[in-house]
Amino acid sequence: MSSLRFEELSINDEIMRAIVDMGFNEPSPIQASAIPVALEGKDIIGQAQTGTGKTASFGIPLLQKIDPELKKLQAIVLCPTRELAIQVADEFRKMAKYLHGIKTLPIYGGQDIVRQIKALKAGAQVVIGTPGRVMDHMRRKTVKFNKIRTLVLDEADEMLNMGFREDIEEILTKIPEERQTLLFSATMPKAILELAREYQQDPEVIKVIKKELTVRKIEQYYYEVESHNKVEAISRLLDKYTPKLSLVFCNTKKQVDDLSEALKDRGYFAEGLHGDLKQMQRDRVMHAFRNGSTQILVATDVAARGIDVDDVEAVFNYDVPQDDEYYVHRIGRTGRAGRTGRAFTLVVGRDIYKLKEIMKYCKTKIEKASLPTNSEVSKLKIKKLLVNANETAINNDMRDIYESIDEWVQDNDIDYRELVASLIKMNMGDTSEQEDINSSTKYYDKNNKKMVRLFINVGRSQNVKPKDILGAIAGESGIPGKAVGSIDMFDKYTFVDVPSKYAKNVLRSMRKTKIKGKNINIETANKK
Ligand code: AMP
Repeated sequence: MSSLRFEELSINDEIMRAIVDMGFNEPSPIQASAIPVALEGKDIIGQAQTGTGKTASFGIPLLQKIDPELKKLQAIVLCPTRELAIQVADEFRKMAKYLHGIKTLPIYGGQDIVRQIKALKAGAQVVIGTPGRVMDHMRRKTVKFNKIRTLVLDEADEMLNMGFREDIEEILTKIPEERQTLLFSATMPKAILELAREYQQDPEVIKVIKKELTVRKIEQYYYEVESHNKVEAISRLLDKYTPKLSLVFCNTKKQVDDLSEALKDRGYFAEGLHGDLKQMQRDRVMHAFRNGSTQILVATDVAARGIDVDDVEAVFNYDVPQDDEYYVHRIGRTGRAGRTGRAFTLVVGRDIYKLKEIMKYCKTKIEKASLPTNSEVSKLKIKKLLVNANETAINNDMRDIYESIDEWVQDNDIDYRELVASLIKMNMGDTSEQEDINSSTKYYDKNNKKMVRLFINVGRSQNVKPKDILGAIAGESGIPGKAVGSIDMFDKYTFVDVPSKYAKNVLRSMRKTKIKGKNINIETANKK
């Protein structure tokens, strides 16, 4: 950490008091470098990521320059996501606690616009918002830019990734040129430098990468797996470590959907989060994750930005991140507030080279580990059940149940241990074939054959007929056509039953198949 103290940075007394309340003892490197430059009024390109204290590094000078007497918008901070806007606004509110007459206002999509308009009219001096919503107000003329003196682009790279470039440029051209422009970005691709060249004046470049405020305690492991075993791999890790809250990162929205569904099918409390969800759905998912009713949040990197949940116990990289920086971002979500966190990365084939590059870049050691075996997981589950059973026994009067058990044991040829073991087995489900097929999808048909119900994402509206499905399954997997059970067709999808012993084979062989020229997705269906 830097040798400068906050007292040496010309910060006013009110803000000093507030940051002392916030527990800041000494400035982080980005704060020590950026605050004096920003207070001088210069433009800045700051390369820093979340966790370095960047918010305060632009927030302190920005707030210090606001004129509390002037009830007009004087500064605007643009953030890529609503979550980040809320987080930044929160930090600003804390920093402005003793600054009387200064109002800060987060504005983002999904929030009641009338209320925002009222708050803007009431004279908020600082707006923290997403480009889309700010543009909205600009068009409605409910926000006036003529008194703005400071503009911050926070996580500018993410804003560009999310397609906000045009909006940002339009906003930038509408803000008076005599302004200070502070641009923060974790990475510095060409587009960011172009933006800086076009809209900043002689900016000072300040770089602070990979220096976290606190050294996090994160155990990092990777597992080499085959791609078709990834869901099983993550399930075993979840079962072994039983993290209260975990974040799982995927590289694509589709993968987020697929994985969250697959985990749900296996009985986990999982939800997916990505940019295609409506604001209301995102809110619901985040709310459930915060209150713990969703324990596993599966997300893309962009959607996970700004998620500020302190007790994430484990981060899973279901896909190895494509960008080295993302690895740091991702695992930084665990091990917060002095807790120990764990980060698990699944590596398929050539991913290992990417992971080695990440280790080199991040100067971090990610240890190779082996997945827990099925029997290890079963033992852990059994132990947990027994611990729970013990608690139940301590806390309940179960004498009437004892009577029934004693009777049963006397009348039948079974001893207590056998009975407990069978109850445990019933409770855990059939683990013997867990590897490939979720047991909840199995059932017995009228001939007492064990069947599995599969889901295919084509149906009548694609002009597909049952015989096409039957033909494709028999043709691709080589199983006899007559072994296929009922085929229930709907407009957009089809359920088809196949004998359990063939299910794995059918799933594998149909993965790359087309039906009526359409690529299909086939998976085990939910319980019949
Ligand atoms: P940021 O990088 O702005 O997202 O900040 C990460 C976290 O560090 C936030 O919770 C800040 O409140 C906290 N923080 C920022 N600056 C300091 C500091 N100088 N000392 C201690 N904590 C800080």
